[in-house]
Amino acid sequence: AVRAGIVVTGTEVLTGRVSDRNGPWLAEALRARGVDVGSVVVVGDRPEDLRAALGFLAGSVDLVITSGGLGPTADDLTAAVVGDFQGRPSIVDEALEERIAAVVARLSARRGWRMDPGATAAGVRKQAQVPAGATVLEPVGTAPGLVVPVAEGRSGPPVLVLPGPPSELQGMWPAAVDSAPVRAALAGATELRQRTLRLWGTPESELAATLRRVDDELAGLEVTTCLRDGELEIVTRYDAGAEPAYGRLEQAVTADFGDTLFSDGPTADALVATAFADRGWTVAVGESCTGGLLTARLTAVEGSSAWVLGGVAAYANSAKEQLLDVPAATLAQAGAVSPEVARALAEGARSRFGSDVGIGLTGIAGPGGGTAEKPVGTVHLAAVGPDGEVAKSVVLMGSRDSIRQRTTAHAVHLLRQ
Ligand code: ATP
Ligand code: MG
Repeated sequence: AVRAGIVVTGTEVLTGRVSDRNGPWLAEALRARGVDVGSVVVVGDRPEDLRAALGFLAGSVDLVITSGGLGPTADDLTAAVVGDFQGRPSIVDEALEERIAAVVARLSARRGWRMDPGATAAGVRKQAQVPAGATVLEPVGTAPGLVVPVAEGRSGPPVLVLPGPPSELQGMWPAAVDSAPVRAALAGATELRQRTLRLWGTPESELAATLRRVDDELAGLEVTTCLRDGELEIVTRYDAGAEPAYGRLEQAVTADFGDTLFSDGPTADALVATAFADRGWTVAVGESCTGGLLTARLTAVEGSSAWVLGGVAAYANSAKEQLLDVPAATLAQAGAVSPEVARALAEGARSRFGSDVGIGLTGIAGPGGGTAEKPVGTVHLAAVGPDGEVAKSVVLMGSRDSIRQRTTAHAVHLLRQ
């Protein structure tokens, strides 16, 4: 198989101040092209560590890709380190220097930056230093990308050097994979099909048992399963020849889990959006323990303004009463975390917003606040609409954050029904 390795640079990424978006994005883009990605190595801004990572990967892959460290400042060292690793000293590319200077002049005029001309010129010159013999990829911001082949007479994979800001890296990707040296390095990789099945309410262990049972009929499929907020995602990659094997996988999953299999592609959020758009219905949210997460999740879907009217994060009892008309007597008798209050929140949201459907939820996210009768993780949900009402009560386990996320997922799945 054709293999690639990724080195993500940046102390801010290493320490988690910025979470890595480039490693996963590149791995996904490569795997979709049929390129196997064995590892993403994250290194800080020390040149020795970048060098060591290049050494670690170069022996086992056909292409190494780096992200970050291409800027104008002194701590941006990737181009020089990669050039040195490949045995190619840096030279100033004067045509590139002029192009970068023009971009910087245009940007600083537009944004009204006041910059020291000497420092600017030095920064531009630094970014125009490229390893001799490298292919230059046109900058999307100011930093050019590079494809640096190993020096003549030595063997090793080329290194594709990309900028750190995710929009620049992604913007440069089409030109990068289309460049002659990257095409040559990845020649022989065949584009794979990717299919996704989604289950709601099946434990991962049950799915694993089914997959084990049919394992010898699944040759040619690369199956990965992932459990996220209670939803089980099965992603399968295969080349066209393995379509029959995929058919057998889908058949086995449908036979065993037909009742929880809810999608052969679209996310639950997308299915909810389609269902509301098709019916011409609107929704309003009355949420307590999720503090706005459900409204945020529904409105994260493109075009949601057509069917989401809004939501109230009614956290305190007084907010439930005053903003969503939950009767004080219901709160007193059933308690804030009860099926009755979930239903009253749904009714209140529906009538206050004038929506077709109202959804309400209330629960104990923890870690404190649980009792023997209502342990941490107790969650009640209800939805009321033109076709009647649905309700659900569950006891979820996990941290406060995970209970809130999974409660939100339960609400999305309740709306899907
Ligand atoms: P610049 O010219 O902007 O300095 P650069 O190629 O030198 O570009 P870095 O200095 O490594 O890139 O990163 C610039 C910024 O881009 C970081 O501060 C961070 O906000 C973002 N960034 C870099 N790498 C990543 C990453 N792997 N995931 C997410 N964001 C990143
Ligand atoms: Mg930088």
